[in-house]
Amino acid sequence: MAKKANSSNHCSFCGRSEQEVNLLISGMTGYICDMCAEQAHEIVNETFKGSNKNDMGISLSSLPKPAQIKEYLDQYVIRQENAKRFLSVAVYNHYKRVLQKNMKDEVEIEKSNIIMVGATGTGKTLLARTIAKLLHVPFTIVDATVLTEAGYVGEDIESILTRLLQVADYDVNAAERGIVFIDEIDKIARKSDNPSITRDVSGEGVQQGLLKLLEGSIVNVPPQGGRKHPEQRMIAVNTKNILFICGGAFDGIEKKIAQRLNTRVVGYAATNDKANIDRNNMMKYITPLDLKSFGLIPEIIGRLPILTYLEPLDREALLRILTEPKNSIIKQYQKLFEMDGVALTFDEEAYEYIVDKAIEFKLGARGLRSIVEAIMIDAMFSLPSEDKKKLHVTRNYAEQQLEHSDHHHLRVA
Ligand code: ADP
Repeated sequence: MAKKANSSNHCSFCGRSEQEVNLLISGMTGYICDMCAEQAHEIVNETFKGSNKNDMGISLSSLPKPAQIKEYLDQYVIRQENAKRFLSVAVYNHYKRVLQKNMKDEVEIEKSNIIMVGATGTGKTLLARTIAKLLHVPFTIVDATVLTEAGYVGEDIESILTRLLQVADYDVNAAERGIVFIDEIDKIARKSDNPSITRDVSGEGVQQGLLKLLEGSIVNVPPQGGRKHPEQRMIAVNTKNILFICGGAFDGIEKKIAQRLNTRVVGYAATNDKANIDRNNMMKYITPLDLKSFGLIPEIIGRLPILTYLEPLDREALLRILTEPKNSIIKQYQKLFEMDGVALTFDEEAYEYIVDKAIEFKLGARGLRSIVEAIMIDAMFSLPSEDKKKLHVTRNYAEQQLEHSDHHHLRVA
């Protein structure tokens, strides 16, 4: 390991003495100063930038296989088997398509954009973020609710690609094989039953705009985002190989699914089919038809051929979420306390209390963190200046802390 050198030594690269530089680091046989280290770093970056353009440093054999991608997701996301499998395969295929681009081949693999449907707080964004950690391609998350048609207040559709360019350090080639997660796609559904909207600014027009990106086309992107300035130089980005993953809660879509299931089943088979329907998880029967009756235009649906769903999270799933994931909420708080030399432990009943409160407040997984925060706030305030070495949270303690904390904000969150 490099360590700080002592005085009277010189940088082996530029010859400056220790007094002339901010920092001199010693190696096995010589020294390097902070300035030369920085310059060396730049040279390294420059050297590899070029080669990255054609090759991401991955080969088919080094690609994580779908089963491995799913295993990775399993460490962070509880349940959601269906979504995990579809995502793993889609990401794997995305890589294969990107690799194929460099070879001459008659069979061109087309991309398969994905749409994930599931109630809020069931893990859609978490899945997308977790996938991103594993990836070696540029990745960004955008919110569909801020998008409007060009010329209206809000962000133009192209801003999606601005974000991707930014995370790719403006390397257009890299951005062109990136992955974009578009959240709240359901919010741009057509609101046809609202007669007061003469012009559907945030609905169909945005869908049409989005369609161009999904289909694959060359889009002129303002590099700094925001409104288009006439003097701003545009960057042309081809979206043909960008993988789009869309997510949305599609509130109320279960009713449409139920309706369709009922009208579809006729005669003798009907009684059987109805009996087998899992009423607690209607989502799993979702088809593109339901997206259409929700208000997505058929062209958009056609460009999102992979449809997957997220299950509602029950009590048992919430209990697991609290403690099991690699960076679970409880593990995070234990880490925080550990840094002050305090061992933090919980009774099983305390976990159950936290989960029951999350369910009571109708906050689902999203509420777990704020409840734990409310329970831990007093201890986090006082323990660092005390001499305690451990804290054990019982159900009683949790209850007291939450009751006396001003947790009413949790109810409306
Ligand atoms: P969505 O995007 O579906 O609205 P999120 O992915 O943002 O929901 O989930 C909100 C929070 O709830 C996450 O940060 C995570 O801590 C927790 N969470 C939700 N679903 C899961 C899950 N299936 N496994 C682990 N944690 C989850």
